[in-house]
Amino acid sequence: MSSTTEKAIASAEAHSAHNYHPLPVVVATAEGAWMTDIEGRRYLDMLAGYSALNFGHGNRRLVDAAKAQLERVTLTSRAFHHDRFAEFCEQLAAFCGMEMVLPMNTGAEAVETAVKTARKWGYRVKGVPDGTAKIIVAADNFHGRTTTIVSFSTDPEARADYGPYTPGFEIVPYGDLGALREAMTDNTVAVLLEPIQGEAGVLVPPPGYLAGVRELTRERNVLFVADEIQSGLGRTGRTFACEHEGVVPDMYVLGKALGGGVVPVSAVVSSAAVLGVHRPGEHGSTFGGNPLACAVALEVLAMLRTGEYQQRAAELGEHLHQELGLLVGGGAVEAVRGRGLWAGVDVTPSKGTGREVSERLMQRGVLVKDTHGSTIRIAPPLVISKEDLDWGLDQLREVLGA
Ligand SMILES: *Cc1c(COP(=O)(O)O)cnc(C)c1O
Repeated sequence: MSSTTEKAIASAEAHSAHNYHPLPVVVATAEGAWMTDIEGRRYLDMLAGYSALNFGHGNRRLVDAAKAQLERVTLTSRAFHHDRFAEFCEQLAAFCGMEMVLPMNTGAEAVETAVKTARKWGYRVKGVPDGTAKIIVAADNFHGRTTTIVSFSTDPEARADYGPYTPGFEIVPYGDLGALREAMTDNTVAVLLEPIQGEAGVLVPPPGYLAGVRELTRERNVLFVADEIQSGLGRTGRTFACEHEGVVPDMYVLGKALGGGVVPVSAVVSSAAVLGVHRPGEHGSTFGGNPLACAVALEVLAMLRTGEYQQRAAELGEHLHQELGLLVGGGAVEAVRGRGLWAGVDVTPSKGTGREVSERLMQRGVLVKDTHGSTIRIAPPLVISKEDLDWGLDQLREVLGA
């Protein structure tokens, strides 16, 4: 590491809270699937901002849409209407096969919105006695970082020392329909799940699980809330990960790629019967649904409607999983999971921790992120070329000695 990079990192460490432990690379510019650091070294981005950058860095269409909107109007607050709002909500609802949208900014805010919506729906529509609503969630979930959301996390790192915790959540093992059935009561208003658990290490539930959740929730008049913040919008080779089981939830929670890596845009998308429970003044956000956010998200939707990104993720994803699959059992890799251009790779502990493997990959010009000790997560922008993907995989094989 050179002194320029060292200095930049030391300064960041001195003046920012240590709530992250970034790899020692300082990015200055980026384009497509590639990033360049402050010393001119190039890196293949195999993380894509946890799927916020599905369309790559500096995507022309998204940058142009943002620039055009910057010159018109960027913020009105929801105190007034603006001319991109109706368009955005109408198109996003139609894109999801739903009726209404409630826009927010970050993923965590959208999850909070889903929780509040499900509770209110429970009291006003389902008839659950006030203050008793229960939401069932899965162990090893990741839904964000607010005090309520970490209240139902099972990850001690995310949760410890942030109590007192918000009550009203039941945690069941992910992928276990029997446990879910057992946990349901008359006061259950929603089941909140990631259709593929991202932060947990790209865990795909057993076949039939999502369809089973759909059936159970329908039987019990419970909302099925799918947190597709990371899994949705093309990553898995379909628009939504739920589609792999032909499942349509009652509510989608979207974020990350919805803002194209340009601005934070999140939303809850559902039926009028569900989202219609909110009245003026009861919930909101100063920046939610702002003109700049709407303009970028409208372009994201136009790009996704072509289907080309989903198709790319499906085709390149098949190749990625074929190649990674060859490493399993060869001594370097214990397991590979995932769908589309999204993989969790469990590295054999003797090959180093996930962090060590990530650092060695960085030295070879590939950026990934470790999770839970020995897993590395691979999620390149969907615009990555097959050649670049293969080159990235070559580097992985090299650092693992595979
Ligand atoms: C990233 C993520 C969130 C939180 O999104 P933020 O924008 O970081 O608040 C919630 N749920 C899932 C599944 C995520 O991957």
